[in-house]
Amino acid sequence: MSSPLPPQAPQAPLFGGMLEIGRGLATVLKHFGRQPVTLEYPEAMPELSGRFHGRLCLLTKSDGADLCIGCKACARVCPCVDLIQIEMHRDAAKKPVIDRFTIDMGRCIFCGNCTEVCPVDCIKMLPDFELADYSREALTLDKFDLTLDGAQSDEWRRTHGLTPTVD
Ligand code: SF4
Ligand code: SF4
Repeated sequence: MSSPLPPQAPQAPLFGGMLEIGRGLATVLKHFGRQPVTLEYPEAMPELSGRFHGRLCLLTKSDGADLCIGCKACARVCPCVDLIQIEMHRDAAKKPVIDRFTIDMGRCIFCGNCTEVCPVDCIKMLPDFELADYSREALTLDKFDLTLDGAQSDEWRRTHGLTPTVD
């Protein structure tokens, strides 16, 4: 038969507790005065990289005219079926006219495939992650929502190393 455990000293739990409090205070003092690594969003906004994958947009020419040629390469390469929907026709001069261009941002996985294949550098991403809305329908952006004006498009190209002016 095994012998009973020796009785524990009555001050042991108290001593252990004080030791833990001391350790906790030491950790607090070690970090005292350091700059916080977290941000108080939304009061403070993060500085995002120019390569950030946020809301999609359509760049235009410098005069604000459509840059998109309606080739639908972006829609074909998108892994989410029918997420990008494009309807277009050609005018009398055979120039493409984009009648409809929608992107369902609620289903987008921000892979960036569409931005890689566009032959005219039209569809791009913005450093905008505040996409929440009150309905799924509101997450489908149309051509008007997506299109940047000429000055905004030139600025996007300038900050991303592309030739800013497009005729
Ligand atoms: S980022 Fe990816 S998922 Fe989103 S629209 Fe482009 S190709 Fe589709
Ligand atoms: S790949 Fe570019 S040019 Fe072609 S339809 Fe998409 S946005 Fe327009």
